Amino acid sequence: MQSYWQHHRIGPYPVLSGRHHADVAVIGAGYTGSWLAYWLKDSGLSVVVLERDTPGAGASGRNGGLLLQGAAQLLGESAQTLGQAVAVELWQRTRQTFNWVEELSRRHALDYHVTGSLYVGGDAGEREVLEATVDLMNQAGVAARLVKRPDQPKSIQRLGYDLAAWFPDDGMVHPLKLIEALLAEAQAQGVQIYSHSGVVAGTEHSSGVELLGENFSVYADRVLIAQNAYVPDWVPALTGLIHPVRGQVLATEPVAPLDHQYPVYADHGFNYWHQRADGRIIAGGFRHLDLTGEVGTELTLHQPIQARVTQLVRDLVNGPVTVSDRWAGIMAMTADHRPLVGFITPRLGVVMGYSGHGSTVTPIAARMLKDALVDNTPVFAPFAAERMIPPQESST
Ligand SMILES: Cc1cc2nc3c(=O)[nH]c(=O)nc-3n(C[C@H](O)[C@H](O)[C@H](O)COP(=O)(O)OP(=O)(O)OC[C@H]3O[C@@H](n4cnc5c(N)ncnc54)[C@H](O)[C@@H]3O)c2cc1C
Repeated sequence: MQSYWQHHRIGPYPVLSGRHHADVAVIGAGYTGSWLAYWLKDSGLSVVVLERDTPGAGASGRNGGLLLQGAAQLLGESAQTLGQAVAVELWQRTRQTFNWVEELSRRHALDYHVTGSLYVGGDAGEREVLEATVDLMNQAGVAARLVKRPDQPKSIQRLGYDLAAWFPDDGMVHPLKLIEALLAEAQAQGVQIYSHSGVVAGTEHSSGVELLGENFSVYADRVLIAQNAYVPDWVPALTGLIHPVRGQVLATEPVAPLDHQYPVYADHGFNYWHQRADGRIIAGGFRHLDLTGEVGTELTLHQPIQARVTQLVRDLVNGPVTVSDRWAGIMAMTADHRPLVGFITPRLGVVMGYSGHGSTVTPIAARMLKDALVDNTPVFAPFAAERMIPPQESST
């Protein structure tokens, strides 16, 4: 089951066989593994990226394409748990992603657009969080604003949300084109990218980590696990910390232009949509209709949820739509909705668990792990894996 984005074929990347050594092995080539490859390309280290499918086969190639500042929680919400100063710092860090993607877009056709985004909601909890978010952004000089129902686009008014907030600096990107660009620049600097080269086992020694695939082994000085929801069973420290959940998405055939040409996310971020320049609408969500059923790593379509997403799009266009692609993707939830980043042993680094919101977070999280590896820089505390996993010694 491929996503709309995956019609854009990237690669081919070679398949690994035989015995190899590397300074750094990255496992997984989604956004995280691709940004790691990009950040490590100038490090002087030999780097291999091992992907069990093709790059972008996981959540990164199956998402909604929204580039939203902040992590999984809105700024106003994370201020409640992290405190205002730390929450603002986290949000500011994710804003750097736009500079990096912008810079890449000067060299590659990324299908990247800064359009602003609208968050729509309206229950009591959301109102408070939206007001706090807008207030904090205004204090930081960003012209976010609340949008009352009469001022919302007509198609959104029909959906019945009382309140919305406008965030002017958000946007969207074609995920596979971004991954393709990151990997191309990494490859040009000597990073080796392998597809269909899944890691099935790993053993950590005091001198390095031995990774085994079906037809290869890699002995690496350091291993960086970028598998997000696909938690490796050979790393017991990760057991129970990341919960895979499924999301449902669809793409329509082109329809007439909507009255809003920017991403919208709704209902505590569960639902989202945007219209592409060619008129297609990408929409997803409604996981909250079956929170206990939409769990696990199986890529299965959930028909009642797909039907609800289809109805959302019909309501938006106020008429029929033809769906061209339906797909599912797997997110990785953590207890506090923040990723786990850092070395959990001297040789084993992790960067995973974005809780459904990774496009702007994966670059900064990957960069934190790269900085920890190369310069010993401490990981930003709210993301530090040690908040959930006490650091351990290498096993043998
Ligand atoms: C339906 C859906 C919609 C979303 N919408 C948005 C959105 O609009 N905006 C947003 O910011 N975020 C969104 N997200 C979240 C975002 O896509 C993720 O946070 C982000 O893609 C995570 O990137 P990743 O590289 O860490 O994980 P992944 O993209 O899942 O990459 C992990 C990779 O590891 C590989 N792998 C797994 N096991 C092995 C192994 N043993 N050996 C080698 N390789 C292995 C997988 O094949 C995969 O390619 C969405 C997610 C989903 C599922």
